[in-house]
Amino acid sequence: MNGIKNTLNKLFKLKSPKTGIYLIEKNSHENSLIEEDKNDIDNCSTFYPIKYPFLDNIDQDYNLSIVLDMDETLIHFKNLDENGKGILRMRPGLNEFLDKLLELNCEIILFTASTQSYADVIINEIESEKKYFSYKLYRHHTILINNEFVKDISKIGRDLKKVIIIDNSEVNFSLQKENGILIKSFFGDDEDDTSLYNLSYILENIIKKGFIDIRKELHKYKSDIEAKVTSNE
Ligand SMILES: [Mg+2]
Repeated sequence: MNGIKNTLNKLFKLKSPKTGIYLIEKNSHENSLIEEDKNDIDNCSTFYPIKYPFLDNIDQDYNLSIVLDMDETLIHFKNLDENGKGILRMRPGLNEFLDKLLELNCEIILFTASTQSYADVIINEIESEKKYFSYKLYRHHTILINNEFVKDISKIGRDLKKVIIIDNSEVNFSLQKENGILIKSFFGDDEDDTSLYNLSYILENIIKKGFIDIRKELHKYKSDIEAKVTSNE
């Protein structure tokens, strides 16, 4: 096992956790294994209702709360074997994007429909310094609608006038479409992808101009978002 790992490490020349391609073992994070993970499809709040609001009240006056999807939005993970070994690729501009959100006084909430045991390994690679994500929400925070995991952001405990959800799957934010930004899926093979750069530019514009209800602003920027973030051609 170690032999394979060493070979892969050399092959991909592991870089710092902030960028590039590197090898992880998604089952290595034993502490995060939770009971619900044992049932893969059923472990959402439809079957295991959990108390909401999910987040604590905030005393800080953020400009926006940004709810970020993980897989194919921020990263792509490709399985190499059935033991959880795989290749993780960060989307181009990921760290610049997250740094920009902090600079713009945004609260960053990671909300993935993946299981916690898998997601925590990835999250630890994205933010080894633990400076980006104020909260992390997982599959057990989603609800199942028509066999799809849906993220109901009315349950997070934030004023929806100041919440954006960014996801590569429209279904994930189908309950609050007006808060959603659909981002092109990232499958780890496009080094020229500029979606996150374009998105941070749009968000910076919106925040610097000021707004009352982010849902109205997203509507105004709809064509810009579709061209630069959703299709990113
Ligand atoms: Mg996704």
